[in-house]
Amino acid sequence: KAKDRGRNNYQYYNQTINSQGKQLLQLENRLRYALNNQEFILYYQPIVDITTGKIAKMEALLRWQHPKLGLITPNIFIPLAEENGLIVPIGEWVLEKACLQNKYWQKIGLSPLTIAVNLSPRQFQESDLVDKVIEILQKTGLQTSYLELEITETVTIQNGDIAKNILTKFKEMEISLAMDDFGTGYSSLSYLRQFPFNTLKVDRSFIKNILEAPEDRAIIKAIISLGQGLGISVVAEGIETVESKNFLHSLGCRYMQGYYFSRPVAAKDATQLLQNQDLIVTNIKSV
Ligand code: C2E
Ligand code: MG
Ligand code: MG
Ligand code: MG
Repeated sequence: KAKDRGRNNYQYYNQTINSQGKQLLQLENRLRYALNNQEFILYYQPIVDITTGKIAKMEALLRWQHPKLGLITPNIFIPLAEENGLIVPIGEWVLEKACLQNKYWQKIGLSPLTIAVNLSPRQFQESDLVDKVIEILQKTGLQTSYLELEITETVTIQNGDIAKNILTKFKEMEISLAMDDFGTGYSSLSYLRQFPFNTLKVDRSFIKNILEAPEDRAIIKAIISLGQGLGISVVAEGIETVESKNFLHSLGCRYMQGYYFSRPVAAKDATQLLQNQDLIVTNIKSV
């Protein structure tokens, strides 16, 4: 009897694995289909320069417009796309789309701004990453200085010298580099010295409790003065309230991003935000 039950358990277990495997495979095929059938779209979230009250940059954020499930955020599918390598063609699509959008904003007469695009560590394993970026910039006609690439520390840790070579080439091309989610990984200060970052984005987990947690405040203060000392601009992510905006402002943090200013929005709405920047200025000045 025990043996039977054991065998049944085993079969049950086996079936579960198989059906999970099948689901994974289906999602993988589905992702491929999504890419080929224009189901991916980009949302844009402003990064505000608090000293001018203007939008300094827009960050492109990937969404999957699923015909049945609706809008799906990247945390759901990017990990799988990184695992199976699909993030490479998806990432190229994102870059091209984002550069085109920025070029469009210039064409309709808006004052030029930087478009920030997230790169996955997986993309640094491709030997032609730099060539691909050059190709896309030429194809879209966007000037290199209006592009910023956001990467996390994982890139610098996993790919060491290779990453350093790639990032140095980007720097030589006058593409800006941002370290994303600063404070969540090793946050080794030596990376900031070794790699040519222009921007440091403080992860929103430090901003969340900034008014209550003296420890978080101490960390933020230190990061802001570190940035000032190194000549790296600091962006605070995840600003949701007027209080956290005011507090960071008082600490001398110049760039901010978060729901308080705007959620990530579709291209059309992003264009409107850029055309009506006075609205945002009012928001900022109402300290
Ligand atoms: P990230 O690059 O750190 O982007 C910031 C995330 O924080 C975005 O989530 C944004 O919607 C969210 N956020 C912004 N302001 C606030 C706020 O005030 N409060 C809260 N609670 N959240 C805020 P999203 O769009 O879901 O993206 C999640 C992550 O997915 C991104 O984190 C980035 O790592 C990755 N990702 C997004 N688009 C791409 C892409 O095109 N390529 C790659 N490789 N990764 C991407
Ligand atoms: Mg980012
Ligand atoms: Mg981030
Ligand atoms: Mg993140």
